[in-house]
Amino acid sequence: MNIEEQINQLRQELRQHNHNYYVLDAATISDYEFDMKLKELQVLEEKHPEFHDPNSPTLRVGGEVTKNFDTVVHEQRMYSLDNSYSKEDLLDWETRIKKLVDGDVTYTCELKYDGASISLTYENGELLRAVTRGDGIQGDNVTTNVKTINSVPLKLKGDYPPKFDIRGEIVLPYEGFAKMNQQRIAAGEEPYANPRNTASGSLKLQDSSETAKRPLDCLLYNLAGDRLGISSQYESLEKARQWGFKVPRESRLANSIEEVLEFVNFWDEKRRELPYETDGVVIKVNDIQQQEELGFTAKAPRWAMAYKFKAEQVTTQLNEITYQVGRTGAITPVANLKPVQLAGTTVKRASLHNADQIEKLDIRIEDTVFVEKGGEIIPKIIGVDFTKRDKSSIPTEYISSCPECETELIRKEGEAQHYCPNVYGCPPQIIGRIQHYISRKALDIEGLGGETVALLVKENLITNYADLYDLKKEQVIPLERMAEKSAENLIEGIAKSKEIPFERVLFGLGIRYVGETVAKKLAKHYKTIDAIITATEEELVNVDEIGIKIAQSVREFFDSESNKVLVNRLVAYGVQLQVSAEKLANQTDTLKGQIFVVSGVFEKVSRNELKKLIEDNGGKVSSSISSKTTYVVAGANMGPSKLEKANKLEVTIISEDDFLNLI
Ligand code: AMP
Ligand code: ZN
Repeated sequence: MNIEEQINQLRQELRQHNHNYYVLDAATISDYEFDMKLKELQVLEEKHPEFHDPNSPTLRVGGEVTKNFDTVVHEQRMYSLDNSYSKEDLLDWETRIKKLVDGDVTYTCELKYDGASISLTYENGELLRAVTRGDGIQGDNVTTNVKTINSVPLKLKGDYPPKFDIRGEIVLPYEGFAKMNQQRIAAGEEPYANPRNTASGSLKLQDSSETAKRPLDCLLYNLAGDRLGISSQYESLEKARQWGFKVPRESRLANSIEEVLEFVNFWDEKRRELPYETDGVVIKVNDIQQQEELGFTAKAPRWAMAYKFKAEQVTTQLNEITYQVGRTGAITPVANLKPVQLAGTTVKRASLHNADQIEKLDIRIEDTVFVEKGGEIIPKIIGVDFTKRDKSSIPTEYISSCPECETELIRKEGEAQHYCPNVYGCPPQIIGRIQHYISRKALDIEGLGGETVALLVKENLITNYADLYDLKKEQVIPLERMAEKSAENLIEGIAKSKEIPFERVLFGLGIRYVGETVAKKLAKHYKTIDAIITATEEELVNVDEIGIKIAQSVREFFDSESNKVLVNRLVAYGVQLQVSAEKLANQTDTLKGQIFVVSGVFEKVSRNELKKLIEDNGGKVSSSISSKTTYVVAGANMGPSKLEKANKLEVTIISEDDFLNLI
């Protein structure tokens, strides 16, 4: 055997042992023997760098250091899941589904693992990339860290497709989590609060050898990609298992919502015996063709539904209510609790939402309160144990002035929240607005973080986001934790933000109620900031999906002289305040006023591309056929009930090619 063969054989052997141990939980070799073989391979690889393999088992131990994790756009978006809490919710869901697809519907029930979602890309059987969910559209490239997780296969076995993404959850099993905490306590460090946050924090460690030390596990549950030759969700789980992935074996097929509920009820109890945290069940339409027919809403697949296990509840004492001021001046009361264990985490604080909530609960200092934690991160106070209330307790009085700047608070009619109106003088508002401006979904300024913004404001170097563009390196260097290089990066990052497209700048301005989606709509409709500045309330309301609340807020923002000055300064610095010429060239109004339904499987473009083409050309995509539908674009295997409906309503059916000709 020559050296190369020897290296390959060792790699192959180690891979198999690794799989047996970490994926199948069935060791076939002692730890000692494994380590010896690994050492042998290490020595050979060091001597023969010409046989380097980025997916060699020796690289599991980590060592590579990442300073900044690159942002990667997911080829297939990572969605969230809709939630259900009762049998009725599930039956409603089934009714909605059955309106949209033909034939019987069966379901795959899976456990909902509570960790950090991850997308793994494999090409020719090798792990190419691991990316966090991020905002679902793009995430962080954490490949070096994920490679250290032993249950993630670096090379696949069997008849895997040439290229695909697989989604799953990185979890930290209870046992490993407890061990980590014991070590931390022994070292005099604060223990970690819960396995989920620790798992996601582990993915963002700069030193991958640190990640390697953490007993993380990776559980897979979804394949994504074009034409994988798989016809059901259940089959895809089996296939993924055959290719070497760790796919938990608890999943079951269910023929009805009744059977789904049996699964839910069984695991609601039994989950306490599982080695890792789960917070519910995920129910998926089993048939992939039906899944494609159902598609996605803006947030989640229509073909999947989470069923949350009932939240756990505890009682504890309310020590104090404090008030936080957000970037828009909104005041949020926070309950500071006597620390208590709840669903595996230590709870010290809970949100109280607003003055009404406090009044409704009649919650008072030193009350004993019921705290609940569902899937959300921040626990909720759901009531007071009045039997334990001290007779001398007095009702809570809501604050009347801002805890940060002492300005008198206001509350608009019909609104739940109190606001500090001192928009330009209240520190958390000044800082919060700039932090929002630089945030990832807005201007995404590299080299500048939230804490630095706070520092810059404190040092009076900036008071608004336009001031960022006047910053000089020399002003920044003397700041705490700054150096020549980091100051340079910061200035460079700010300059680079001038390339960020209009819609994200518009979002970054921080106009109330103008979130990402609304900003997109406005940018697309008006094309330039000037057109928005001069639009009247009536005109704004006429834009698709813009309601009166948003329209008023936009007007209010631009009616302010200081905001107009700010925006004009941004224009002068060269920030994108109009849709780029390039983008304009790709957009047309060809399909304006036309409504499309897309059905079946296509050849030249994917379903998602097709939908994007429709929207880029001014058309609208709808999920179900009605008399308003202009065209049904039919691919192969269009569902018979859709066909029937289209015929009945006399809606024109066109092919993929017909459509491409249209545009
Ligand atoms: P949520 O974050 O509550 O909207 O729930 C959606 C998340 O559940 C997904 O992004 C996944 O990370 C996670 N998840 C856990 N287990 C599963 C599963 N079996 N199928 C799909 N998603 C799952
Ligand atoms: Zn204030």
